Amino acid sequence: MTARSPADRREELVALYRELSCEHACPLSETRTRLVFGMGNADAELMFVGEAPGVEEDRQGRPFVGRAGKLLDRLLEEIGLERGQVFIANVLKCRPPGNRDPLPGEIEECSPYLFRQIELIEPLVVCTLGNFATKLLSGQGTGITRVHGRAQARELGGRTVRLFPLFHPAAALRTDSVLTLLRADFARLPQLLDEVRRTGDPDGAPELAPGLPKTERAAGDRTAEPADASAPVASAKEERVQLDLFGRRQA
Ligand code: URA
Repeated sequence: MTARSPADRREELVALYRELSCEHACPLSETRTRLVFGMGNADAELMFVGEAPGVEEDRQGRPFVGRAGKLLDRLLEEIGLERGQVFIANVLKCRPPGNRDPLPGEIEECSPYLFRQIELIEPLVVCTLGNFATKLLSGQGTGITRVHGRAQARELGGRTVRLFPLFHPAAALRTDSVLTLLRADFARLPQLLDEVRRTGDPDGAPELAPGLPKTERAAGDRTAEPADASAPVASAKEERVQLDLFGRRQA
């Protein structure tokens, strides 16, 4: 794999957004209001993957901006993080009508974009939120109740990353005991990130990313100012909503 600078990867992410908005063949594009590509830092160490946009996300074109999103923000804050430091995406980029579960064909249509996002962002840790994201990215059928809080090394987007399955915040809003478990798993995230930064790759090998010089991906690297989001200025309002989100580390 060729080494790409954060600025290159960000530009490719912008191109991916444009491709998705022009060529997305998902049947849900007929019923959605807005595409929800994902938002956050394009050079994030930590990525969250939810299921699909809900009503508020569909209205705003941004992921996790409803009640579940507010809880996600609170949990991030409790571990000293904010949205500008992570990247948040979904398995589906369009809202299923009535918030029904994603269908296999929809997941099949959308998932290549998610894998490409992971490849471009190069996160160290990917937290899957709920069953759909967990089953897709783990490649296994085991439900979230059994695997939450168990970090696993997975080959994703051409690199080994740590997958860290979590309960979906919407489930935590419905059930107090789930919220307790979700909060406890979240509390372990800073240590998990430290561990991956220290040991290099998730299996404990010294390199963080094959093909990238270690100096470029050393532990403190991503705490430095990210390369500015010099995404091309978009003329369409819809595109501005999305492109505005890249690379703004607000720490
Ligand atoms: N639930 C999700 O899975 N994703 C969102 O973006 C919002 C709610």
